[in-house]
Amino acid sequence: MKPSIALITGAGRGIGRATALALKQAGYDLLLTARTKRDLDQTAELAGGATILAGDVSSPAHVKRLIVRAASLGKLEVIVNNAGYAPALSIEQMSLAEWDKILAVNLSAMVYVCKFAWPVLVKQKGGVIINISSMASRDPFAGLGPYGAAKAGVNIFSLDLARQGKAHGIRVHTIAPGAVETSMLRKLLSPKELPTNQIMRPEDIAEAIVACVNGALKHTSGEVIYLRK
Ligand code: NAP
Repeated sequence: MKPSIALITGAGRGIGRATALALKQAGYDLLLTARTKRDLDQTAELAGGATILAGDVSSPAHVKRLIVRAASLGKLEVIVNNAGYAPALSIEQMSLAEWDKILAVNLSAMVYVCKFAWPVLVKQKGGVIINISSMASRDPFAGLGPYGAAKAGVNIFSLDLARQGKAHGIRVHTIAPGAVETSMLRKLLSPKELPTNQIMRPEDIAEAIVACVNGALKHTSGEVIYLRK
């Protein structure tokens, strides 16, 4: 029997790393990506083994390579679109290049992964896609409007994809966390402004992802699951 593969983007730290460890624990072989190879090596070591392919998920060429690699490793059962970029910018501060990057990393990258993986999932008659959105998609902190707008795009794209996937046994879940203790959050808010004990841990999000894959949340395809402490 072919091994069950889980592809996780943004797996070098934070929520992506915790998700990699949780899915390995759940029995999946891992294919991990992010731009920083050193971070991926660390995640792979912590997980007790993983295939890594470093690169930028906002590059369609890199995403194509990822899907080809995933399909060569086994059955691509789980995809977690987790890579993200969340600068807080006023409209005056936001250059058009920044706007393009926010859309590219948070929205287009997820679309590329789904687009290139779709024929693989259809052919194998099923799979689970988990797209990581954000509470900012409905209620952004000051300056997170551009990021929240991109994540709102994730919510809607995922709903439509979940409907298309039904006929093929493909589920598409969207998880939209509030604040989580990661380097992304700490670039925005200090522990003094938002103490660690008031926010979620990356492991909390990983737990919800595993519940979507094969647990209590597996009947939530198409829903946006908002999580906050
Ligand atoms: P993080 O600690 O900053 O980790 C982000 C990961 O994504 C890193 O491994 C990073 O590695 C990778 N990444 C970033 N840009 C990439 C690109 N262009 N191509 C490939 N990989 C890329 O962030 P996090 O807090 O764990 O966030 C994970 C997801 O949760 C994101 O989608 C984020 O929007 C969402 N989220 C986070 C929070 C929060 O409070 N932390 C709340 C709501 C939603 P490299 O930089 O090496 O590429």
